[in-house]
Amino acid sequence: MTVKTRFAPSPTGFLHVGGARTALYSWLCAKHTGGEFVLRIEDTDLERSTQEAIDAIIEGMEWLGLDWDEGPYYQTKRFDRYNEVVDQLLAEDKAYKCYAPKELLDEIREEQMAAGVKPRYDADHPKVVAANEAATEDSPFCIRFRNPKEGSVVFEDKIRGRIEIANSELDDLIIRRTDGSPTYNFCVVIDDWDMGITQVVRGEDHINNTPRQINIYKAIGAAVPEFAHCSMILGDDGAKLSKRHGAVSVMQYRDDGYLPQALLNYLVRLGWSHGDQEIFSLDEMIQLFNLESVSKSASAFNTDKLLWLNNHYIKTSEPDYVAKYLQWHLDAKEIDVSNGPAITDVIKLVGERCNTLIELAEQCRYFYQDFEEFEAGAAKKHLRPVAKEALELALSKAESIEEWNTENLHQLIADVCSELELGMGKVGMPLRVAVTGQGQSPSVDAVMDLIGKARVVSRIKQALEFIAQREAQ
Ligand code: GLU
Repeated sequence: MTVKTRFAPSPTGFLHVGGARTALYSWLCAKHTGGEFVLRIEDTDLERSTQEAIDAIIEGMEWLGLDWDEGPYYQTKRFDRYNEVVDQLLAEDKAYKCYAPKELLDEIREEQMAAGVKPRYDADHPKVVAANEAATEDSPFCIRFRNPKEGSVVFEDKIRGRIEIANSELDDLIIRRTDGSPTYNFCVVIDDWDMGITQVVRGEDHINNTPRQINIYKAIGAAVPEFAHCSMILGDDGAKLSKRHGAVSVMQYRDDGYLPQALLNYLVRLGWSHGDQEIFSLDEMIQLFNLESVSKSASAFNTDKLLWLNNHYIKTSEPDYVAKYLQWHLDAKEIDVSNGPAITDVIKLVGERCNTLIELAEQCRYFYQDFEEFEAGAAKKHLRPVAKEALELALSKAESIEEWNTENLHQLIADVCSELELGMGKVGMPLRVAVTGQGQSPSVDAVMDLIGKARVVSRIKQALEFIAQREAQ
């Protein structure tokens, strides 16, 4: 049987890391077996669902690269179908009309609580029976599923193992409200059935819904899928992950300079392990992921580890991949890379040192934009009158260099050192500050190579003017 999984978010907010991890696990289950992955938007809660949230979820999924084979389906477009199945269940007496008004049910609930019994809907309660008998054709009603009274529901959760709930614990669920709208637990089952879902991976907050849903599957004669309920994600302080812990929206991670691959690698490990391996390419994740190795316990978010992974992927990914995601940050900083060296060459040179794409974009700036001021501390230390001679000699050599490449620039610096009998630092550092405006950069010959001759020449002149002004003071 082909595996078919789904991610079924309710569009009441952005795609948060917990949802993204569920989506990833579900997506990996499909990819692992060559199966299919469905995206379904569960928008039946009309008051809380927004188009903005739908867009944010889709944007988050796309940014992460969690592509879907089918969908997005929208539950609000499937009401006719849900009603069709409700009618069928009514005709088969597997569901029934319930006329007991809410106020009456509240009253019964209070009585049950006062008597120390678990509050639940009881179809046989004399007051409920009386309300149903008194109803006329015009009385408002909802439709309830006739839950089995005997026996129990047993399922083998792929993460949590065997779960058994007695049917006596489950009451007759409303499947269509008085206003005619179908309810969540019912829509999910009909959708998963119609869409041929074989594995449901979702958050542990749904674990109590599962036995109720299984009874509906059985009543409609559908095959029950496998279930896997993922544990919660906690902040590094052990509390449930929330905005207070910083970024919780997937797109905030984009804004904060993370690569999707780093976040995916981080999320896959947040609750799943394969020996002590930490780094997983997408192909490895697809090949190795299995629900059986997902932990039952809650996982704590650790931003330092995510940063470490981000640095790893900035350093080791194909520069084209990094460039694709860096562009957003370059645009945000108004750095126009058409005006200088190939961005992939700059990434290869400066990527190593950066933990985020924000830092990387900032380190790209001097390759494309001239600057009016030098970093104060670096200039104070290295653009001093003693550096003038070295810079002047470097300038004249740079102006007359024939082939502008790293090797020749390396030689240029070595020649200045030997002709002026200066150590490497006395030449390299002033040159670095002159051409980059700052005290730290990768190897200065390689940097000068990429910055290009015209800019290097004019920036050394700018540094010499700075020194001259300093002398004049
Ligand atoms: N729509 C539900 C949620 O966002 C998920 C339902 C499911 O996966 O079955 O929590």
